[in-house]
Amino acid sequence: MKFNTKTIHGGQENTDPAYGSVMPPIYQTSTYSQDTPGGHKGFEYSRSGNPTRTALENSLASIENGNYGLAFGSGLAAIDAVLKLLKPGDEVVSTNDLYGGSYRLFTSIFKDFGIKFNFIGMQNAADIEQHITENTKLIWVETPTNPMMNIIDIEAAAKIAKKHSVLLGVDNTFATPYLQQPLDLGADLVMHSATKYLGGHSDVVMGALVVKDKELADKLYFIQNASGAVAGPQDSFLVLRGIKTLHLRVQRHCENGKAVAEYLSNHPKVDKVYWPGLENHPNHDIAKKQMKDFGGMVSFTTKGNELEDAVSFVEKLKVFTLAESLGGVESLAGHPASMTHASIPKEEREKTGVVDSLIRLSVGIEDEEDLINDLKQALG
Ligand SMILES: *Cc1c(COP(=O)(O)O)cnc(C)c1O
Repeated sequence: MKFNTKTIHGGQENTDPAYGSVMPPIYQTSTYSQDTPGGHKGFEYSRSGNPTRTALENSLASIENGNYGLAFGSGLAAIDAVLKLLKPGDEVVSTNDLYGGSYRLFTSIFKDFGIKFNFIGMQNAADIEQHITENTKLIWVETPTNPMMNIIDIEAAAKIAKKHSVLLGVDNTFATPYLQQPLDLGADLVMHSATKYLGGHSDVVMGALVVKDKELADKLYFIQNASGAVAGPQDSFLVLRGIKTLHLRVQRHCENGKAVAEYLSNHPKVDKVYWPGLENHPNHDIAKKQMKDFGGMVSFTTKGNELEDAVSFVEKLKVFTLAESLGGVESLAGHPASMTHASIPKEEREKTGVVDSLIRLSVGIEDEEDLINDLKQALG
């Protein structure tokens, strides 16, 4: 099956043996009757497994070219499960330009459990190697990064990971499997905030992991069940429905993202535009190599780098909604320094480019002309 077909049919054979419903039913149940002690029909208790969640997990595995999918209550719950593979004394080499919540989870929770994090720039993937010690167990890559849209060479990172027998995890939230499939490039594990493009309609919070290897899947399944941050059946249904149009939506996100990035690049009040599809983007070649297109996330700064200009711009927008999050059908605008990245100290965030005038756009699937006109009036 090719990708577009997989979004609709991948892992979805026989999801309703009772009546053959085309969409899997929402099994809104916590438990399942047994004929005799232990004599169940594959499900015992909905933390351990639920048929609607299983249908989604099979779809996730299919679209990421993996063998096993796991759905969690949020993206952070999915990352939390990955970190629970580690033990005190273990080390992680992580992208420094990282989703703020991931940074907070690493530095405010897992650091206290004795796990050491090295946050480094990974635009030159070879730099990863010098930070690997005998205690390194995980390389954590986010690409494109949030909000600076840096691109990290997954294949190069995977070679380093393999050489040192370290796990490579990739947060694929921004790219989606439509644009980039990290397992095919050698990653061990793919993570998603399904809240974003996979769900795609800003109506659900969910996380996902996909792996190829059975032993790793078994460990993660044990953690999913033992720690218990599972996705509910209603939310699983919604994300499964979202995935069925992922390819169509992301195609339009990319078209509109391109139009917005090009418009901003030519605007006299705009300083820098960060979108990996621009030829002057420092990692454009790697983006071209590992992504099918360049996505709908665009960040930019205004000339003079004034906080007030950024605030006034986002307040004037009418079609774009000022809100956290991304990846839904509607266009959103955010101010990372005061919103998504407020939990990162100013000196830390400025080192990676998250300055006061930086604005991050999640370009939706509305008409291009309406989006450009909105940006024009808000910048004017
Ligand atoms: C939103 C996001 C997360 C966290 O996911 P939640 O579903 O909000 O817990 C992690 N990584 C990236 C890149 C994100 O955008």
